[in-house]
Amino acid sequence: MKATRSKQLATYIDEAKISATLTAARACDAQRVREILSKAREMHGLDASEMTTLMENNEPELLEEMYAAARLVKNEIYGNRLVLFAPLYISNLCSNECLYCAFRARNKELVRRALNPEEIANETRILIEQGHKRVLVVSGERYPKEGLDYVLKAIETVYKTRSGRGEIRRVNANVAPLSVEDFKRLKAAKIGTYQCFQETYHRETYAAVHVGGIKRDFDWRATCFDRAMQAGIDDVGIGVLFGLYDWKYEVLAMKQEIEHLEDAFGVGPHTISVPRMEPAVGSTLAYASAHPVSDSDFKKIVALLRLAVPYTGIIMSTRENADTRRATFELGVSQISAGSRCNPGGYADSANGHNSEQFQLGDHRSLDEVVRDVAALGYTPSFCTACYRLGRTGADFMDMAKPGLIKHHCAPNALSSCMEYLLDYAKPATRKVGENLITHELDTMEPSVQQIGRRLVSEVQADKRDVFV
Ligand code: SAM
Ligand code: SF4
Repeated sequence: MKATRSKQLATYIDEAKISATLTAARACDAQRVREILSKAREMHGLDASEMTTLMENNEPELLEEMYAAARLVKNEIYGNRLVLFAPLYISNLCSNECLYCAFRARNKELVRRALNPEEIANETRILIEQGHKRVLVVSGERYPKEGLDYVLKAIETVYKTRSGRGEIRRVNANVAPLSVEDFKRLKAAKIGTYQCFQETYHRETYAAVHVGGIKRDFDWRATCFDRAMQAGIDDVGIGVLFGLYDWKYEVLAMKQEIEHLEDAFGVGPHTISVPRMEPAVGSTLAYASAHPVSDSDFKKIVALLRLAVPYTGIIMSTRENADTRRATFELGVSQISAGSRCNPGGYADSANGHNSEQFQLGDHRSLDEVVRDVAALGYTPSFCTACYRLGRTGADFMDMAKPGLIKHHCAPNALSSCMEYLLDYAKPATRKVGENLITHELDTMEPSVQQIGRRLVSEVQADKRDVFV
């Protein structure tokens, strides 16, 4: 790994402005809340002051109206699709001391492991055989002696691995911030989204919970997307670790980062992740969150983000249990992980590994169970990877998404990729639920896309694979 670290400062984070906005928040005024919800339904987003008014609202009736607005926006832009993926942890070696994470360098309770290429191929094969098409490669911030080449080689291995007719078609990466030169190498490895969570945008809290290693440098992390974009990676995923600091501050800070990226590069993040801190072996902070986010505030966060940044996808991981996940789907979530393990080698050794995992998972169901559940709830499980492979990323994606056109591609692609899953990997009960859903979707689709949907689904039924528009 190159040691060249730029001196760029994250000046876009204006703590004083966030505090002033939060302090100025008025007690709930029903008329104002309704005006803001009416603006949100137009799908042009919300500013910080409007977001704050919605954050402060706890009136049950107005909250219900906010959830209804979020449902409407989600449905209008994303339809009823949920895109599925799995994380692939390649290594839990780390040189940082993040007090909430089991991978932190001085944690003696963790069993360390960095997978070799054969083990990475084996994990990939297991995910392919479950039916996955997208993986998120994840690693701690200390690579075996090859440095970044270790990660690049892992991505290459995932793309090259095959099992039967199956393959992984999109690899995203959640790895530590890089220099511009190294981001260029990551881009050349053909990643989809580069994901990195700031954890907290509050400098004082950041310093208190990151007590060792490169990650102590707030600015190096908070400017990582500037360097990624300079390197040509226009598809990035942001996030904070909820539980470290006041969630209201963090949501407004994310909004500042989004505005900064839009101003500087003409495109904001592709996704926002909303991890809540979970217990982690040997990391006491993870058991004693200073700012716990309640389930009801968590729902509010998802709905608020859906209204404030309607064209940015929201990712819900298996940190959350099945019920919490279900409750947030309709409010704005567009991508979910399923069947996840968060320890290196966790798919091959699913019975063990708790002493090498990053945190405790909340949803332990298999991919097949999650597919059956979401299909029974009326959502289309999508394994589509078309946009990224057709170069519809960054500003091109946003240009398409904003007039609502994305629905015309995503809806038929979701059905064809779902049918592929049902025919190749699903258990009989899941296949039945899924096929009923596809029939219903095809029958009720907008006439302009119905024909495309029917064509793609019949092609898959006629044994073609990987068909999309
Ligand atoms: N090591 C890299 C980094 O920190 O950017 C790669 C990602 S790290 C393995 C993935 C993410 O897991 C972190 O960014 C953090 O938000 C999250 N995480 C760490 N400890 C957690 C915990 N106890 N509960 C939930 N999420 C946690
Ligand atoms: Fe290492 Fe990332 Fe965990 Fe921090 S969050 S200890 S950098 S793996």
